[in-house]
Amino acid sequence: MNRVLFVTLGCAKNEVDTDRMRALLVAAGFSEAESVGEADVIIVNTCSFLASATSESIETTLELAEAVAEGIRALPIIMCGCVPSRYGDELVPELPEVAAFVRAEEEDDIVSVVREVLSVDGRSSSTHGALRTVEGSSAYIKISDGCNRFCSFCAIPFIRGRYYSRPYEEIAEEVRTLAAGGVREFVLIGQDTGIWGKDLEEPRTLAWLLRKVAKLVRNVDGWVRVLYLQPEGMTDELISTIRDTPEVLPYIDIPIQHCSERLLKAMNRSGSADQLHSLFDRLRAEIPGMVLRTTGMAGFPGETDEEADELYDFIAEQEFDYTSVFSFSPEEGTRAARMDGQVDEDVKLERTQRLIDLTEQLGFAATAKHVGERVKVIIDGVEESDGGLELIGHTWFQAPDSDGAVHIASGEAAVGDIVTCDLVDSFCYELIGEIVR
Ligand code: SF4
Repeated sequence: MNRVLFVTLGCAKNEVDTDRMRALLVAAGFSEAESVGEADVIIVNTCSFLASATSESIETTLELAEAVAEGIRALPIIMCGCVPSRYGDELVPELPEVAAFVRAEEEDDIVSVVREVLSVDGRSSSTHGALRTVEGSSAYIKISDGCNRFCSFCAIPFIRGRYYSRPYEEIAEEVRTLAAGGVREFVLIGQDTGIWGKDLEEPRTLAWLLRKVAKLVRNVDGWVRVLYLQPEGMTDELISTIRDTPEVLPYIDIPIQHCSERLLKAMNRSGSADQLHSLFDRLRAEIPGMVLRTTGMAGFPGETDEEADELYDFIAEQEFDYTSVFSFSPEEGTRAARMDGQVDEDVKLERTQRLIDLTEQLGFAATAKHVGERVKVIIDGVEESDGGLELIGHTWFQAPDSDGAVHIASGEAAVGDIVTCDLVDSFCYELIGEIVR
């Protein structure tokens, strides 16, 4: 049996794509390798969101090629995902180490590509259904791909193409399969989840989808989390659905990028500090106890000291639980990369660091506020700690892979279990929990 080693870079959306390719290959008779030494072929699923992510993807591929060259067997490498989608055929002469390039939109053909590079025959395999292989109790579900917003700093619409919603039936089938396999947390993702359903033949809303998915997971005691909601996507219907549907977590992730009206316009986004304040104030008023995550960008072209302060003050006033901070990066092919008023690198870094310091201060304090609570924790794995191995998990107000974790100080559980914990202490974004049952 031929074995495939997967190396996945980038965001959760790429993890989902890798899961799907893995499942397609397993269904076609391949198995997964744990290391280069065990593998017959390597698949690198790449990220190209920022120039730094593209470089990391290429460096990782070259390092793997070097490891392969040092081994005894020739081992083909297949590069998938965002880097081939963004750079296409330009890569062929640049990366002779790579046996095949597969764009994100071609990943359903992975079985035939692997067979071709390995020169093996096989039955044609079906791509029908919600093929996923997931370990543990938490899974990402991609409800859409692509993006129509064309924020002036972002290359995603050029890489992933125009927005399209996955039909409900496909999402539901995936949820049912995952629930039957033991998954209890369903994290709905896409570039712009708030507009899900608008482009379907029978248009639907995200709120409708959340209510439907909530029903599907009710009998397994599951919970649903939705990420990447643009501010305009927060409709009355969505707010009341999050408030009134117990399975939908009151965890809201709204990337704002900035709050200055002038800069938001230059970013090809909309809104102003006043509008954003009213949105967040309303969310807090209507969904008591909710947790808020956002994203802010420092050093967009033309950002003045006053505008940088405006963003700082906005975040300080809103006291977000979690904030990802990015330095503007002039991405090839985007409008913002060609704009006048590019901010000096050292100024950009200084503004970024000031925001990081603030958001850490806010985030650590928000985390500490949960000490004393009794919560359900999904056990994600085992980690090395000073005292030996410890169980680690996350709870409703921590998105997997993004926020902090709960470190289990006492009690026993297996990976994938959902346990009830008392939160007894915190450090930075992390919490210490004791299992009570
Ligand atoms: S919403 Fe803007 S930042 Fe997000 S993927 Fe679309 S274009 Fe990029």
